[in-house]
Amino acid sequence: MKRLFKNISFLLAALLLAIPVSAQNQKKPVIGISCSIDGTTVEVGMTYVKSVRKAGGIPVVIPITTSEKEIDEYLDRIDGLVMTGGEDVSPLLFGQEPSRFLGEVVPDRDIYDLMLIRKAIKKGIPVFGICRGIQCLNIAMGGDMIQDIPSEVPGAIQHRQNAPRSYGSHTIEIVKGSLVAKLLGTEKIAVNSFHHQACGKVAPGYKVTAKAPDGIIEAIESADGKSFGVQFHPEGFVYSGNNTFLPLFKHLVSLASDYSANK
Ligand code: MN
Repeated sequence: MKRLFKNISFLLAALLLAIPVSAQNQKKPVIGISCSIDGTTVEVGMTYVKSVRKAGGIPVVIPITTSEKEIDEYLDRIDGLVMTGGEDVSPLLFGQEPSRFLGEVVPDRDIYDLMLIRKAIKKGIPVFGICRGIQCLNIAMGGDMIQDIPSEVPGAIQHRQNAPRSYGSHTIEIVKGSLVAKLLGTEKIAVNSFHHQACGKVAPGYKVTAKAPDGIIEAIESADGKSFGVQFHPEGFVYSGNNTFLPLFKHLVSLASDYSANK
């Protein structure tokens, strides 16, 4: 009896000792989220914050800065990066002059976004670009843009829907075997659409993994799969409780966990 008690005590002690180790192993990865700026206010949708949380990451908003040193300080502390939607990108950054239909440009954000992406990829930090984020990813790595779909793409469908963010307004064809196809488990799905710009020429080392019926690029991924982007807004669905596109965020969090474990 005494011996049994001793064995149980030993087991309990071993179990208690094991808890901090396993808790450490399960430490959630820190996911940096890019933002915009409105006057003196840092702006980022709670939709992105909630999606990262729901996928198991710790969301951290990275305030806009054009300081390389500050960007480096943030990149030393994050394990993954979500590049968010927003304003148009200056066409001078991809070798074009401005279209008459170019929208609002935020020069500091252009510098910040491209610097964040290039440095993150160089460090091996996984990057998930959404809307403006996929466009910045493409530009940062050497691609270019369609500045205004309605005036540049004859026969284009509507990419600026007049319906809630949680509503899929047009379909996309997903390339079989691609990351997006595997994560969503389908090769055709309806997505939401809130853009008048799109990726043009795709950056070297990247491939198109989804297109709208009019040929507009809706997803790209890098050869190593560590950076990927979508033109639609998965966070708009996740925020409203529809988890169809949550696997995209979960994948980033999983890549971020791997990065964190190996850094
Ligand atoms: Mn679209």
